[in-house]
Amino acid sequence: MTEKVSGRTAPMLRRVAVIGGGITGLAAAQRLASRSDNTHIVVFESSQRLGGIIRTETADGFLMELGPDSFITNKPGAIQLCSEIGFRDQLIPTDSRFRRSLVLRNGKPVPVPDGFMLMAPTKPWAILTTPILSLAGRLRLLCEVFVARRKQFDDDDESLASFVRRRFGQQALERLVQPLVGGIYTADPEKLSLKATLPRFVEMEQSHGSVIRATLAQQKQEHERAANGQDSSEESSGSGARYGMFATAGGGLSDMVAALEQDLRRSGRVDFQLGVKVTGMSRTTDSGSQWMLQLQNQAAMSFDAVIVTLPTHSAARILEAAISQELQAALGRIEYASSAIVVSGHQLSDFAHPMDAFGLVIPAIEGRRILAVSFSSRKFRDRAPEGQILLRTFVGGAMQPELLKQDDDTIVGIVNEELRSIFGMNAEPMFSEVIRYNHAMPQYNVGHLERVARITTLLKETPGLQLAGSSYTGVGIPDSIASGWAAADNVIQHVAGQVHREQHA
Ligand SMILES: Cc1cc2nc3c(=O)[nH]c(=O)nc-3n(C[C@H](O)[C@H](O)[C@H](O)COP(=O)(O)OP(=O)(O)OC[C@H]3O[C@@H](n4cnc5c(N)ncnc54)[C@H](O)[C@@H]3O)c2cc1C
Repeated sequence: MTEKVSGRTAPMLRRVAVIGGGITGLAAAQRLASRSDNTHIVVFESSQRLGGIIRTETADGFLMELGPDSFITNKPGAIQLCSEIGFRDQLIPTDSRFRRSLVLRNGKPVPVPDGFMLMAPTKPWAILTTPILSLAGRLRLLCEVFVARRKQFDDDDESLASFVRRRFGQQALERLVQPLVGGIYTADPEKLSLKATLPRFVEMEQSHGSVIRATLAQQKQEHERAANGQDSSEESSGSGARYGMFATAGGGLSDMVAALEQDLRRSGRVDFQLGVKVTGMSRTTDSGSQWMLQLQNQAAMSFDAVIVTLPTHSAARILEAAISQELQAALGRIEYASSAIVVSGHQLSDFAHPMDAFGLVIPAIEGRRILAVSFSSRKFRDRAPEGQILLRTFVGGAMQPELLKQDDDTIVGIVNEELRSIFGMNAEPMFSEVIRYNHAMPQYNVGHLERVARITTLLKETPGLQLAGSSYTGVGIPDSIASGWAAADNVIQHVAGQVHREQHA
């Protein structure tokens, strides 16, 4: 079989559709374009721009991330992608001058204890002196070393809240872990699956009988490695180290998307269909070897394989005619939370607080109407003009969904009231912009891994169809990239099988 694409004749060319032009879809297209000679890729994106949730804007000397603002570098996805597209030298680290976080305690911002990483204290003495917990709370946290290991009931999942309460006590959960971890997932820790979100803590308990003991043992090993001149991971090497694991693009994450787009266009193997919404899909043969895509305001198009990178609720909708009811129901079992970010610019002198940190997280028991505030221009350089500061305030999430029913002006009013009360803000912001993310944050609730395993099994009934994105095996940018790559690898295998069968028919 030969097919003419872009004026050249390519042997055995297979057409692959990627639905969604966010980072997952672009990563999938990049993997296909760079690793498979016999595919032509069409990326369908319903909006007029690529990048999806990733969006950078600039105005009046401010560089504003309206979605994600950075990514973790101890997972390979994003760093590797940047290397492959020649963008690595554009990445910048966090600003070492402000590497610390604050947590609200009785209405006042207080530093998170030095070396406290999500829930593992790397410096137990810092816990002993923190004002965030009462003396009883501090001692209870440190008594974790004596708490018996949980008996493993096979694949038994446990919520984050249950794990922390059991090992570190209620105060550590309410005052530290809920705001620090809940912030990442905008989730309710009573529902969040530990196995799906922080599996290394399950392993630590099982291997060392205690998270603290496991953390200290790991630290010791790394010190020894460092002393022997070997490389040592930043993760457990002391003060502020965790913050050093984040990177972003100097000119904003949209630059990374633009570089990726350029790389794909240069390959000559990818067409972008912007402003084209996929409304449905069907299989044109019983064997499922061809997929027909229904497009809004356009004629249907047929493909040999399809990668769907939408949230599961949208994927289930467009796949209704193409997949079993069981798979559709399984997709429907993944829940999503909504949130909003208020991006605002201020004069630094308008705050009584020095704003000398990366941001503030707020425990739910403080009863505030915002979840967290990121001090964007303290986290990364060149995000605000001299003497000014850029903030991103998070509202809503799984714990406070009712606030998102308010209109934008009301939400900005709420945020300003909170900034006044918490940081002593004494003037209106220079500007505020509300960005809403409706049903955009997948909730990895207890049983998530089993739900994803079921989806993976059921998906095998529909060869040529792949699902990818942040709903399945990790919520961040590196995970989304890895999932796009994995989907593309499966398509490459599928297409190779098709070609092989055809050649030997
Ligand atoms: C508020 C917020 C903050 C975040 N912060 C961080 C962070 O700091 N660091 C980090 O690592 N991760 C962060 N994340 C997670 C990260 O943004 C996501 O993992 C990642 O961007 C998901 O990319 P995606 O391509 O899977 O989805 P999306 O970016 O949602 O892309 C999907 C695309 O599909 C398009 N589309 C939808 N329906 C159709 C259709 N029917 N036909 C065609 N196209 C369609 C959409 O327009 C969109 O462009 C954050 C997420 C949110 C919501």
